[in-house]
Amino acid sequence: QAAPLGSSVIPIVNKLQDIFAQLGSQSTIELPQVAVVGSQSSGKSSVLEALVGGISCLGEMIFARDGRWFCSCCRLRGRQMAPRRSGGSSCIILENASMISPRSAEKFKYAETAKEAGDNKGVSDRQIRLKIFSPNVLDITLVDLPGITKVPVGDQPTDIEARIRTMIMSYIKKPSCLILAVTPANSDLANSDALQIAGNADPDGYRTIGVITKLDIMDRGTDARNLLLGKVIPLRLGYVGVVNRSQEDIMLNRSIKDALAAEEKFFRSRPVYNGLADRCGIPQLAKKLNQVLVQHIKAILPGLKARISSALVSVAKEHASYGEITESKAGQGALLLNILSKYSEAFSSMVEGKNEQMSTS
Ligand code: GDP
Repeated sequence: QAAPLGSSVIPIVNKLQDIFAQLGSQSTIELPQVAVVGSQSSGKSSVLEALVGGISCLGEMIFARDGRWFCSCCRLRGRQMAPRRSGGSSCIILENASMISPRSAEKFKYAETAKEAGDNKGVSDRQIRLKIFSPNVLDITLVDLPGITKVPVGDQPTDIEARIRTMIMSYIKKPSCLILAVTPANSDLANSDALQIAGNADPDGYRTIGVITKLDIMDRGTDARNLLLGKVIPLRLGYVGVVNRSQEDIMLNRSIKDALAAEEKFFRSRPVYNGLADRCGIPQLAKKLNQVLVQHIKAILPGLKARISSALVSVAKEHASYGEITESKAGQGALLLNILSKYSEAFSSMVEGKNEQMSTS
């Protein structure tokens, strides 16, 4: 079982976020988003599902859409919980929220997409976002972007490819966005839309993880060893190869848990992947994401500390300017008078300023 995303720093970061939320402060920790890019049917949703499916056993999940929250709750604890950090968004918890499995959440997702985009293959400009709140995982947002398609079908506009690319870029160009660039093993890596668009958004490759799907259905006699070793196209953060559920598995309602077990067996029984354990399987992908998240948090902590220190200094100054706080009634009266006179000074200078503005304009 892989460590949950960000497990080593979770208690600290969640506590910090709780404190900031109580203070109503803007200095909350901006955690990275994880966006999944690739061609249509490359296996993006399957990768996300497998990652989230693993997480859902550990904590509750909140599915967020347009500021509305749908909550599928912790099956371990078996009770409904409001999101702890809803960031001011309204919260709708479905009556039967505890009944939502990752699988029905997926159905919900597709129903919502159809409602928004029309059900004839239009593409919505709004993305599907899964927000995960849990004591066990960091508050991160996973973004499932539409796949890159080349030939318009159904109601799709003729410039469908350009539209999708623009939308994906608007997401993944943000420096805080981690990119999972998904390419199926049974297609040519050199033609990968995922690597191409990720390369445009993140030329130095500091935030792109390559994901190779469909290792189980490669042409007989071929394997993904060289792909995973970065010998075909090098990538700074490297590649992880995965085996997701096939269409048949999905039709047979095979669970994510079973699929993860089958994936493990797949890699164990293929000698060609010997020695590549750290590049094989969804749990390894979760681990890699975890490492990148932790690095990101380490990188932002000094800046956060500096912001807190300077805020502390200015609040202490303001506090001191009001004078000593005393226990005696007379002392408290003097302090109140001091505060009132400061207030009235500030007020009259504001009014004068306004009058001046009016007389000069
Ligand atoms: P998306 O359009 O990129 O989100 O692709 P999906 O995740 O919907 O996957 C497209 C199809 O490929 C589905 O039928 C999946 O079941 C199947 N699929 C995805 N990953 C794998 C894999 O690793 N192995 C196999 N055999 N099928 C996969």
